[in-house]
Amino acid sequence: MSVCEPTILNPIAQNFSCNNCGNCCTRAWKVKVDPEKVSPLERSRIFQSLQSEGFVPLPVIAGETRVGRRGNGACGFRQDGGCAIHAELGPFAKPVVCQLYPFSAVNTPDGYYLSLSFSCPTVLENSGQEVSSQIPDLKRALGESSFFSNHAMSADTRVPLYGQESLPWVEYLALEDELWKVVTGENPMKELLQAATMVLHQGRFEMETFSAIVSEFSFFTAYGIAALEHPKDGDKREKMCLALQAEEQPYSGLLGAKLPVFLPSKPGHEVTRRLFHRYMENQIRGKQLISEGTLLSRVLMLAVSCTIALYYLGARTEEKEPTKEDLAWVFHLVETAISGHSNVFHDLFRQYEAAVLRELARA
Ligand code: SF4
Repeated sequence: MSVCEPTILNPIAQNFSCNNCGNCCTRAWKVKVDPEKVSPLERSRIFQSLQSEGFVPLPVIAGETRVGRRGNGACGFRQDGGCAIHAELGPFAKPVVCQLYPFSAVNTPDGYYLSLSFSCPTVLENSGQEVSSQIPDLKRALGESSFFSNHAMSADTRVPLYGQESLPWVEYLALEDELWKVVTGENPMKELLQAATMVLHQGRFEMETFSAIVSEFSFFTAYGIAALEHPKDGDKREKMCLALQAEEQPYSGLLGAKLPVFLPSKPGHEVTRRLFHRYMENQIRGKQLISEGTLLSRVLMLAVSCTIALYYLGARTEEKEPTKEDLAWVFHLVETAISGHSNVFHDLFRQYEAAVLRELARA
């Protein structure tokens, strides 16, 4: 299928309006600038003014132009609580990354599927304008950026499942329907590990495979927690992983307190269940799981992410009903550190997939 302008599909009924909280502009995120937007930005008053202060507004790093960050990580173009590019040149002058956030757009043979990032606190609230009303602006943002193709992917695109296995697009959609049927949000870990089993058997559930996946789960989740706590120190990471598996209660720098004994848990309140259900819907129905890597490694990643989020949520709230701040804290943690794909996590879920495949080959 080939189209002249991007086709956008919105598979999930939800709402979002930016309340300008600044969360996304004040984190030390790498924001690439589309090549066609660089010259207009360089001619802007805000660019000239920042440059005259000695600040580099658009540094070129590793061959790509990025938005300059302040020492504290905040975007250099953020002024008086808002975006100075938006104020001077309008919303479409901003880098496409900024125009899209918190949306993700995954290209497929049907066009771009939309989903939302739960690192934005307003997305968690599911409030504001219906997403469907924002599609014209999103189409324009994608259509004007050379980072995105105006064409859907080829109809004979295959979706990588695991190892060297893949499925034609239409068969993948049928498999996705089957996976989504087992996801209710009652017990995200169990449901997603069932879904992982079904990826290996193209929609069928097999107890032996489920057991192989479960047997590796504690190690990879403990390692994931340790990698969040010690992203740069391999020795401390290994030690913490061992401590969690030995049911000890290591200190958490993220919480500023000792962690509870690690046990996978279910959402304890309806508000949490509904939020995790919508999060998984964005990941699965929004095609996030097929945006990169194999489907199996991404389903395993989602199972580990949800389990870690529920573990920290329980530790932070001591099992009381979570506040908006508690939920924003845990989703920010998993969305930026795990789904954001640091190399450690990338490797971790590839290794989890390989361990499961080895286990099954031995059986
Ligand atoms: S985090 Fe969300 S609500 Fe806050 S400024 Fe960014 S897009 Fe807007």
